[in-house]
Amino acid sequence: MSVRVVARIRPLLKNELGKDTIVTAESPEGENIANPTIIRIPSPKNDAESFSFQFSSVYEQQATQQQLFDGEVAPTVKHLFNGGDVCVFAYGNTGTGKTHTMRGGKSLADRGMIPRLLSSIYRRCRKIEKDTAGATQVEVALEYFEIYCDRVFDLFEPPEKRTPSGLPIRDNHGKTVIVGLTEKPCTTLKEFEHLYDQANMNRSTSATKLNAHSSRSHAILCVKVTQTTETTVRVSRASCIDLAGSEDNRRTDNNKERLVESSAINKSLFVLAQCVEAISKKQTRIPYRESKMTRILSLGQNNGLTIMILNIAPLRSYHLDTLSSLNFANRTK
Ligand code: ADP
Ligand code: MG
Repeated sequence: MSVRVVARIRPLLKNELGKDTIVTAESPEGENIANPTIIRIPSPKNDAESFSFQFSSVYEQQATQQQLFDGEVAPTVKHLFNGGDVCVFAYGNTGTGKTHTMRGGKSLADRGMIPRLLSSIYRRCRKIEKDTAGATQVEVALEYFEIYCDRVFDLFEPPEKRTPSGLPIRDNHGKTVIVGLTEKPCTTLKEFEHLYDQANMNRSTSATKLNAHSSRSHAILCVKVTQTTETTVRVSRASCIDLAGSEDNRRTDNNKERLVESSAINKSLFVLAQCVEAISKKQTRIPYRESKMTRILSLGQNNGLTIMILNIAPLRSYHLDTLSSLNFANRTK
């Protein structure tokens, strides 16, 4: 069981060029500056004072999707095929690049961690089947759902089919299952891209306030890999999570609906931090049962490998949210 917490600073967008930035990446003294591991940010009260935060790795503005994938996500594929679970989270306030990191853009170079992971999984499937001359068969199946206000909605179902209370979750022989969730077998990358694009439309069209909704729900893609030989069946899962925005909604808009949303988000992110901390400290008790998301993910169980990507926008206008993200990451150590 292990965890890596890394930071990714996004570049300025076209309409942000020239704006004031406050986040810098550094290496520990005497170490290679090409591989920064520290983020420095000024105090909101006094620019002359600063805080620094240590990560397993820091990806700067110019870092590509390929570099992030090669450095953090590609190494998890071996673990997955050895039968271990993998979890990749993108954490950060809205506008910092979580969706860009996980889903990414349309072009090959812009593809995010999720399509790259699937591509890598399918390549490995083909290799295993070839190397074993078909004696080992590998099946890939997908589940994709969102958790909004602690309710679970299937993203493979059209929004009209949703019941307001969401899908129930139950414990079944020590495993948490979502009752009625679609599991889609998916044998090629092409098929994946089609299913994933369609499901993402279910995510956004379900909302009256498009972006508002997607930034207030956790989107979780589970990739289940089953390797079957004549005598054994081995199942493992890779879960990729585009988390709800970590900004404090209470600060900006405190109507009743928002308060319910933000307290659900705060609770689940708080439990997530506690779980990641417990895993990184190698504690035996991981409080994954304390929230729906960590419970569904069985976070820290089944020999899990967790990668948390902390997305950061370097702008001064995000100062407080960035500081609170960095403090969150700090709590997980
Ligand atoms: P979030 O999902 O955290 O709200 P997005 O992924 O939607 O944030 O990113 C906000 C904007 O920044 C989008 O226009 C996105 O394309 C852009 N962006 C984010 N990260 C990068 C990056 N590494 N390179 C280029 N553009 C980025
Ligand atoms: Mg997003």
